[in-house]
Amino acid sequence: MKYIFVTGGVVSSLGKGLTAASLGTLLENRGLKVVLQKFDPYLNVDPGTMNPYQHGEVYVLDDGAETDLDLGHYERFTNCQLTRLNNLTSGQVYQTVLNNEREGKYLGKTVQVIPHVTNEIQNRIHVLAEHSKADVMITEIGGTTGDIEGLPFLEAIREFALEVGPHNALFLHVTFVPFIKAAGELKTKPTQQSVAKLREIGIAPHILVCRCERPLDKDLRRKISVFCNVPFEAVIEEKDVDHSIYEVPLMLQREGVDELVCRQLHLDTPVPDMTHWQEILRKIIAPQRRVRIAVVGKYIELQDAYKSVYEAIIHGGVANDCGVEIQKVDAEDIEREGAEKLLKGLGGILVPGGFGERGIEGKILAARYARETSLPYLGLCLGMQIATIEFARNVLNLTNAHSTEFNPDTPHPVIAMLDEQTKVTKKGGTMRLGAQPCQLVVGTKAARLYGAFVVKERHRHRYEFNNAYREIFQKADFIFSGFTPDGKLVEIIELANHPFFIASQFHPEFHSKPHQPHPLFKGFIAAAHAHSHSR
Ligand code: GLN
Repeated sequence: MKYIFVTGGVVSSLGKGLTAASLGTLLENRGLKVVLQKFDPYLNVDPGTMNPYQHGEVYVLDDGAETDLDLGHYERFTNCQLTRLNNLTSGQVYQTVLNNEREGKYLGKTVQVIPHVTNEIQNRIHVLAEHSKADVMITEIGGTTGDIEGLPFLEAIREFALEVGPHNALFLHVTFVPFIKAAGELKTKPTQQSVAKLREIGIAPHILVCRCERPLDKDLRRKISVFCNVPFEAVIEEKDVDHSIYEVPLMLQREGVDELVCRQLHLDTPVPDMTHWQEILRKIIAPQRRVRIAVVGKYIELQDAYKSVYEAIIHGGVANDCGVEIQKVDAEDIEREGAEKLLKGLGGILVPGGFGERGIEGKILAARYARETSLPYLGLCLGMQIATIEFARNVLNLTNAHSTEFNPDTPHPVIAMLDEQTKVTKKGGTMRLGAQPCQLVVGTKAARLYGAFVVKERHRHRYEFNNAYREIFQKADFIFSGFTPDGKLVEIIELANHPFFIASQFHPEFHSKPHQPHPLFKGFIAAAHAHSHSR
């Protein structure tokens, strides 16, 4: 087993996760089995209780773990199977250590950061190594070098590398080389300082990935190499991508990163064949067709809040050789200005998941506009609940129909709390979570798109379609296209007499990859393109 540790310096948001994932792509294409892992230094046990403004999207795994959004990149860029073992937070480490202490596992000892916390972190690397049976494990340390809370992780990986030996562990540091306008040049000082900090901790990086908005010329590379004590060829330029994040693996390949890694770790593997990846990129950058899709949400100004949704839309485009321009529409703007003004002329509308009341009425207006104008609609989780409420109010004339999440006193609770949730009082990790089977109804559009009878999709919700209303919906044009195998929960719905109006209680976006676009997104983009074309 070989270990690669990815750290970051100078500032956050450098795209460490993308760099780690892209390296994973390259190593996989060299025939290696790769596993990726993320360490998050914050004290929350998981990001499940954090607001998207704090954290961006919460990425849900098959086993129901609520994890960091970088795990989404790992799954989209590689074939590795992730579980809750692949994301470790300081909160989990301390929870384990404190439980051990109470159980008497350290009897007689003073419990300390070194060795108890650091051992627990290393233990987690060993456990995943064993569990994954991979050839290479890439571990990304969240945060920035120098953060107080990240120190135990850095100490742990320093010791770990020492233990496994020089050709079994590699440190890759992602750093920032800013362009200073007034001077008209790139500056290397922050990188020097960040590497100095890392070396002070005892970690000497083997590879420096320099994030920059301008090309890094030879002189600068030499300067960084000398001052940071990293070989010249291991100073890597990672420029901001022009079009798509899926350029990053190809960029790193051009810079020879995978070659460097394999040399350092004594991995004898062939040069990766990235033609399929180039073809994916071609479909994103120079597609044969184009379409515009609206995403109607409430965290529109945040790049990361609907990360997997945006990516899955792009994958749906790849499946149709169709470039997608995503128009981010604030649901509250629709409340103020009306749906037509903001949604007219688009190919389709997507309403993603969400919690809380803000923007709900705007989303309902968007769903109504899609239904009434035959505009393709894809609803995800809350997006399905919205479609249900809209149909109840405006087609079935159930006045003030609502979800009890937003109006506990509604006369028509068409969306209500899951039975299993009514007794839940704790907030962390208690929703209906993870992959669950859904049985599709033969003859529905959903079943046709999936081309399957049973699918497994990931969930994250507390509310669901209220079965007391099944009959009256069914008598109208509202079709239930999928249920849990026991028939109890509605998992997916669609409208008859509409070119494409599908909404799921689960989150299909978590299962989409550029090389395996999700069937619902594929169908949605095809319908959206057909819709734009027909006008
Ligand atoms: N708030 C809704 C629920 O809990 C929808 C959740 C979601 O969209 N992920 O059921």
